[in-house]
Amino acid sequence: MDLQQVKERYAKMKDAELQHLAKYEIHQLRPEVVEYVKEEITKRGLDSRLTEVVDNQLRELSNEEIEQYIQTIQSLPCPKCTLQFERLNASLIHKIRSFIFMTNYESKIYIACDTCISKEKNKQLLLNSLLGWWGFPWGLIKTPVFITKHFTENAKRENFGKTILTEFVQDNASELYLRKDNTAELQYFIKRINEY
Ligand SMILES: [Zn+2]
Repeated sequence: MDLQQVKERYAKMKDAELQHLAKYEIHQLRPEVVEYVKEEITKRGLDSRLTEVVDNQLRELSNEEIEQYIQTIQSLPCPKCTLQFERLNASLIHKIRSFIFMTNYESKIYIACDTCISKEKNKQLLLNSLLGWWGFPWGLIKTPVFITKHFTENAKRENFGKTILTEFVQDNASELYLRKDNTAELQYFIKRINEY
């Protein structure tokens, strides 16, 4: 594609589209095109840290950076109960609901204090045990798998939480970078992840 055309395409993008590109799609672009994105961000007067986000995406996070982000997340007040007595942890919440031939299921990340994680996991264990089975065949197949996961994951919650947080940091590096110095914004971001 003609570079001039590419430049014009970026010039026509909405701010939100350009921000999304800067946060998530930089690694798919050619180096000269990446420069256009940075120019366009500067020209529009968008958050100047977005150009840093662009550069960050062109390299891997170091282990130290990942560890730093994990510690920042773990020292936040709990996004659920807002208390700050415990270091935050992460777990997966498994949900399964069936109705005759239909079964919906999902496993999603949940970051909170251990007390809130236990509450949410126990609530879903109960709901899964009551509402998971009633679909053929997936309800019958998946419900015992999800119930077993509840117990096996709880047994290794500390290590499992670390693995989940590491993946979470790698997947959300751009968003975390933009919020790393603002506790309230970071806490709100995590809260939205939990509710999503
Ligand atoms: Zn809590």
